[in-house]
Amino acid sequence: MTRSLLPFTQFVVKVHSRCDLACDHCYVYEHADTSWRARPKVIGDEVLAKAAERIGAHAAEHGLAVVRVVLHGGEPLLAGPDRLRRAAGEFRAALPPGCALDLRIHTNGVLLSPAFCELFDREGIKVGVSLDGDRAANDRHRRFADGRSSHPQVLRAVGLLRRPEYRHLYAGLLCTIDVENDPVAVHDALAELEPPAVDFLLPHATWDQPPKRPAGLGSTPYADWLLAVYDRWEEAGRPFAVRTFESVHRTRHGLSSLTESLGLEPAALVVLETDGSFEQADSLKTAYDGAPATGLDVFTHSLDEVARHPGMAARQLGLDGLGATCRACPVVRSCGGGLYAHRYRSEGGGGSFDNPSVFCGDLMTLINGIADRGEPLPGPGVPTQAGERVVPAGLTDRQLDELARGHGGTDTVRALVRSQLALTRAMLAAVRSTSGLRSSAAWDLLAELDSAAPAAVDAVLGHPYARAWAARRLAGDPAAGLGPLAELAAAAAVRAGRGDQVAVPVRAGALHLPTLGRFVVGAAAGEALVTGGAGAGFTVRTPDGETVTVAGGPADPRWQPVRRIRPAGGWTLALEDTDPQRDSHQWPVADRLDDAELMAWSGGLREAAELLDRDLPAYAQGLRAGLTTVTPLRAGPPGRDVSAAARQAFGAVGIARPATAPILALLLAHEFQHVKLGAVLDLMDLYDQTDTTLYDAPWRPDPRPIEGLLQGTYAHLAVTAFWGTRTAIYDGLPGVAAEHARAQFALWRRYTAEAVERLAGSGSLTAAGLRFADGMRETVSPWLAVPLPRAAEQAAREAREARRPATAG
Ligand code: SF4
Repeated sequence: MTRSLLPFTQFVVKVHSRCDLACDHCYVYEHADTSWRARPKVIGDEVLAKAAERIGAHAAEHGLAVVRVVLHGGEPLLAGPDRLRRAAGEFRAALPPGCALDLRIHTNGVLLSPAFCELFDREGIKVGVSLDGDRAANDRHRRFADGRSSHPQVLRAVGLLRRPEYRHLYAGLLCTIDVENDPVAVHDALAELEPPAVDFLLPHATWDQPPKRPAGLGSTPYADWLLAVYDRWEEAGRPFAVRTFESVHRTRHGLSSLTESLGLEPAALVVLETDGSFEQADSLKTAYDGAPATGLDVFTHSLDEVARHPGMAARQLGLDGLGATCRACPVVRSCGGGLYAHRYRSEGGGGSFDNPSVFCGDLMTLINGIADRGEPLPGPGVPTQAGERVVPAGLTDRQLDELARGHGGTDTVRALVRSQLALTRAMLAAVRSTSGLRSSAAWDLLAELDSAAPAAVDAVLGHPYARAWAARRLAGDPAAGLGPLAELAAAAAVRAGRGDQVAVPVRAGALHLPTLGRFVVGAAAGEALVTGGAGAGFTVRTPDGETVTVAGGPADPRWQPVRRIRPAGGWTLALEDTDPQRDSHQWPVADRLDDAELMAWSGGLREAAELLDRDLPAYAQGLRAGLTTVTPLRAGPPGRDVSAAARQAFGAVGIARPATAPILALLLAHEFQHVKLGAVLDLMDLYDQTDTTLYDAPWRPDPRPIEGLLQGTYAHLAVTAFWGTRTAIYDGLPGVAAEHARAQFALWRRYTAEAVERLAGSGSLTAAGLRFADGMRETVSPWLAVPLPRAAEQAAREAREARRPATAG
């Protein structure tokens, strides 16, 4: 059978081939393969340069959106800062436009210093540290050659990575399992270090050299050990990511594995040694002397040639590459025969990988054990392609707590903005690959601009409705064509001001440039040519052949730019009334605003912004950092204020202009709560995704699913805060407005407090969700103690009995 070549996406680059520890479980120095003895200690300049060139060419040839390079060893820090800086620079410079570099280093931590961390910060290198658990666990193997413990040095290294200034560099911990260590103590020792992720690694072994199975620990000690960790991890609310456990969850639901040691995904990893030779996975060093060798090297062979090497190809065959026992196994989709190296058995000198894993019984018990525990579906992240989900960098505990209390300051909301931008990029890349767009001019231009003019690309991809379109497209919406990709590329090109020319389809009689505006061409269909110019100037050649200077020349009434309102304090809000993708909210959008409506919106938004700054400054900070777009909606039924956020349109709220600026401020604050919470839910599970229970939401007559209850509660924190400030402003004053404010405050504080307790008691919240509920409670509780006149409480009671909230909820 002929198989198409699968590109490598992960490159393990040995930058130093010696180590300052002498761990007795190390697969490099303590197993069958001894090739390290003949290799240079440090990777040379020529090898680095050639490796970068090969990887860059491979990424360009296969249109890779991202490659991961892991700087490895031996101990890579022994290579020294200059060599590591050079490596980062070489790899980054060699990648083609549109291909991101995920650069990491795996270290034992002994030499990690602030100077190294500064370097990694500048070069964007994330750090994984090897640590086997508490001191007793770590000392069992991870010692210096003279027998000294390395534990204090490793803790010091992790301490550095946990400092606020370096925390973003902390990729996680790598823990090699020893079943004689106490699994709960190991879990707890690692959890104490707050790693974003922990990889639990089975010790390397083959059928010739089976893993130790101490007497008294049963027949599947590795499964039992991992399941004990799993139970502790669950009990603690999954404090960090564990690829092994998450891969079992995912593969049981038909999704891909996250680790090469489980599942049927083809191997996409190659190792480069310090002398420039290519090798297969390091784990093969445990099989026999020379097992990982390919005989290929970076100076003579391309990465495509390496991918065709029989040893590599064997690791890309999925089910076809497994022996008969595995192929017939009921858990093969989750297990995949385990790590390739663990299947090795020498048979009369020949040797074969056509066996189940030497950990077979353990793997089966682990997978069934996790299944028996009733794992939830994978939750956070956004779907991209073929069941993949992308979860961008998360929030710190402080940021989560800030958001939980209802608001979230500038840096917290900016973290959400960054994560949403990363998701939009990933979704666009998925649109490209699922739509067979290898040679798309629009994509190529976007990718090139991403490197040459990243601010221009960020501006268009940060447009809320770019993601809304990508989500529709990925969900298979037949109405979501590929036109918007060209529109995004054209808008980015105009912003970049380089003179690029882009063909853009005419839709609904207009040419659309997201974030900029639309040009009404009259023709129902066809293609227009957009040519950028200096500054923001550009020309349009219509399908009829007319060339119009649209911006940077005399005003043409057919050009309808996006109008921007600039309330005080440097905030710019787009009033989006041209982009066809804006129709993403649950209410119909308004048409292009006429001058009178525009003036009314402009005045209303300025006043609303002033009110938010003055009365709800904590909420205003987040709004300024994350709300970019207000989309006017059509007016709702008489007496009803209409507003909506859209789950796939971060940064936008839809509002039908209300009668007064204070209500506009209320609607902005209310809807932006949904926007923020949606972005948090893209980063983490706050509740059990399998929960189908409907919960009573105090403000609604119909019961709601858990996410609906959570969203409503969170939005009503802002609503209650708003009425609280109105109550304070009217303190002691008579009049209808004052009484209304007090009654609303009485009503919403009660509703919100009740809903927080319903969430907390639902049994559905994860540990992060419970923490979030605690934060909301912290905000609500003091409101309950604010004394209010009896009339206000009475009005609230009446509204409550009628389940008739007086504002949109
Ligand atoms: S190694 Fe064992 S558990 Fe895994 S697929 Fe093969 S037979 Fe099944």
